[in-house]
Amino acid sequence: MPDHLIHAVAFNQTVRALAAVTTGTVSEAARRHRTSPTASAALGRTLTGALLMSTMVKDVDRVTLQFDCRGPIEGITAEADAHGNARGYVKNPAADLPLNERGKLDVRGVLGDGMLYVFREGGFYELGLSKEPYTGSVPIVSGEIAEDIAYYLNKSEQVRSAVSLGVYVQPYPDGTFQVAGAGGFLIQLLPGADEGIISGIEESISSMPYVTDLIRQGEPPEAILRRALNGSSLEVLEQRETRFRCNCSFERAVRIIESIQISEVRSMLEEDGGAEMICHFCSSVYQIGAQTLQDILDVAGQEADGGEPVH
Ligand code: ZN
Repeated sequence: MPDHLIHAVAFNQTVRALAAVTTGTVSEAARRHRTSPTASAALGRTLTGALLMSTMVKDVDRVTLQFDCRGPIEGITAEADAHGNARGYVKNPAADLPLNERGKLDVRGVLGDGMLYVFREGGFYELGLSKEPYTGSVPIVSGEIAEDIAYYLNKSEQVRSAVSLGVYVQPYPDGTFQVAGAGGFLIQLLPGADEGIISGIEESISSMPYVTDLIRQGEPPEAILRRALNGSSLEVLEQRETRFRCNCSFERAVRIIESIQISEVRSMLEEDGGAEMICHFCSSVYQIGAQTLQDILDVAGQEADGGEPVH
């Protein structure tokens, strides 16, 4: 079954609930960036958080979560759009630590102190009327990522929220590993939520199994949400498939070269005979050949010889 997420409401629309299974999305991110087990967990949790947050509010084109941190991973960036596409990277993919005292991947240890920044870009891109991106930030209070996103939502957006995110990494004797389960959920209390319902949800969340255990057993997002919501029925508003997908391309790489200094393009051609561009977000490599660089220089030369601009 492909990765997917659901967006639902419960308890007479006083509770918003989202859940996602992202095993394939996170596996692809780990494969592309060759992240260590701990870095894979950190990146996977952040990608899943971005996917959930991109679905939470209407008219959002893209949500970016950025951890700027002092631990060995140095930084994490994850983006998700309104179509279930997610992409992201960590600054130091090799960052890894021994398992923590609970026998879990030490995500908190690889992050360390720092800040979480949230960027939301709002609608109407297709009309060319994009709104100003919304930006908020909070200090990293936990380093386990889900708690940090919850803290951000509670503190900065002032919506009572609970977030759980997990990535299960299966190690093999030869030193390799596989992302065997990834996903999470996000629950928000909307105005009018009853205190009794709230404490019931808190109790069911604290007593439920790890979300990755449920995903590895094949539980779909709906079943995970029902557990978190104490068995409540759900009104599903939306379902979408999710995947790791970047919007970079050879044409975009060429456009970036077209925008840099002519003298630099000339030295790429003369000294290196071409250029190599690597996309941060997905690690795709684009080889820009000598002929393409020459074409860029020819066009730039013609524009420069175009005479006086006409007013
Ligand atoms: Zn890319």
